[in-house]
Amino acid sequence: MAINYIYPEYEVVRNEKRCIGCKVCVRQCANGVHSYDEENQCLMADDAKCVNCHRCVCLCPTKALKIVKTDHTFKQNAHWTGETINEVYRQADTGGVLLSSMGNPKPYPIYWDKMLINASQVTNPSIDPLREPMETKVFLGKKPTTIERDENGEIKNNLPPQIELSVPIMFSAMSYGSISYNAHESLARAATELGILYNTGEGGLHEDFYQYGPNTIVQVASGRFGVHKDYLEAGAAIEIKMGQGAKPGIGGHLPGTKIVGDISKTRMIPEGSDAISPAPHHDIYSIEDLRQLVYSLKEASNYTKPVIVKIAAVHNVAAIASGVARSGADIIAIDGFKGGTGAAPTRIRDNVGIPIELALASVDARLREEGIRNEVSIVVGGSIRNSADIVKAIALGADAVYIATSALLALGCHLCRSCHGGKCNWGIATQVPELVKRLNPEIGYKRLVNLVSAWEHEIKEMMGGMGINSIEALKGNRLMLRGIGLTEKELEILGIQHAGE
Ligand code: SF4
Ligand code: SF4
Repeated sequence: MAINYIYPEYEVVRNEKRCIGCKVCVRQCANGVHSYDEENQCLMADDAKCVNCHRCVCLCPTKALKIVKTDHTFKQNAHWTGETINEVYRQADTGGVLLSSMGNPKPYPIYWDKMLINASQVTNPSIDPLREPMETKVFLGKKPTTIERDENGEIKNNLPPQIELSVPIMFSAMSYGSISYNAHESLARAATELGILYNTGEGGLHEDFYQYGPNTIVQVASGRFGVHKDYLEAGAAIEIKMGQGAKPGIGGHLPGTKIVGDISKTRMIPEGSDAISPAPHHDIYSIEDLRQLVYSLKEASNYTKPVIVKIAAVHNVAAIASGVARSGADIIAIDGFKGGTGAAPTRIRDNVGIPIELALASVDARLREEGIRNEVSIVVGGSIRNSADIVKAIALGADAVYIATSALLALGCHLCRSCHGGKCNWGIATQVPELVKRLNPEIGYKRLVNLVSAWEHEIKEMMGGMGINSIEALKGNRLMLRGIGLTEKELEILGIQHAGE
């Protein structure tokens, strides 16, 4: 028998004094960690299968369970860490590419935490958001450079199609297939109630969700799954996905085991066949080609919807964004290297791309220098954790942000980063009917509404503290930020001064 070199990463600790033998853990763990030994009449745990998702911990009625990281170690070695050694063992076992889910967990700098927000004192007094109006509404899309009047001198509405958001937050692309029907329903209903938008991702739009069209962004990715005329007409905006922060430069792969029932119908591919999105769009090799797709989609939707082009934050992102702005896109979405995913090769996720904070600052600066900043709106995502990150992103130049991981956390995700296994115990990243049922969309959508509403309050408080009463006045206002613990080069790229200056 082959030796198993890998010691379990987690240990399931059961407090025997508290355990009442109800077997909830056995029923709740889709990974089959817990079992009941009839012969010895006791509960057992197969630690090796545990992904540390906390489902059993949260549902145990007597709080008898906890999951701890094993203290089993290799001989100390700063270069060859236990994680690195285990990865080599795993690849030597399987000969395969390592797969991971959610965002890059490596300890790269978090620039959001190295920027501090200003507040008014004495002059330019602060504003009390509870007593005075605060404008958090934003419009995304190309802005006209001139005011035109008709023959009667009335101002002509020459505004190209816009996305209107009550707060500068949207739910980022997550496909039906990578997440469940109930997760999609929660996002769609929350976006509708909040007056913001959610994004179909590349999996098409389930017919039940056409009713949420005014709050939907429909995505066109390289695989073109589920793309047809009604789909393009269903949403409030169309997004072309050129890249994704978690896996820049490579395509997507949803295994055939997840292409079942409605997912196969919505994607318009046979049941059981792998859904493989190629790395490039096979019809796009230049900005001119991208322009053709942008205008084909505008034509197909009768020039009534803004077109978003989503790119990953990579080296030279400013030059790439400049090209995208010239392609006719109305909005550029930039996805940072900490952005989430349902599945990505681990090496790509952890090593490719750049932080969104640096990408945003350089794109905003470049578009301003070139005098084309008003040609496009900028939306950033891929690491937004709270309302302060949003305020900082807007002060750095974003018009709005995309959130996804934080939205999934609101739905109950515990960031076990096992989505690619398809057995999400929280009913989010799974298509197994018994697991999907665990996420109640009625509760899920209310939790999303609560999260975004709480952030909206906090954004207003921070704006009020700065003496600013609208998102528009905060946008690109880098004087409101100061850096802490940053090098001269980092400060230069972020376009901010150091704290104390
Ligand atoms: S995988 Fe989740 S539900 Fe199963 S034992 Fe581990 S923490 Fe509990
Ligand atoms: S969505 Fe589910 S599987 Fe994915 S990280 Fe969250 S809890 Fe884990």
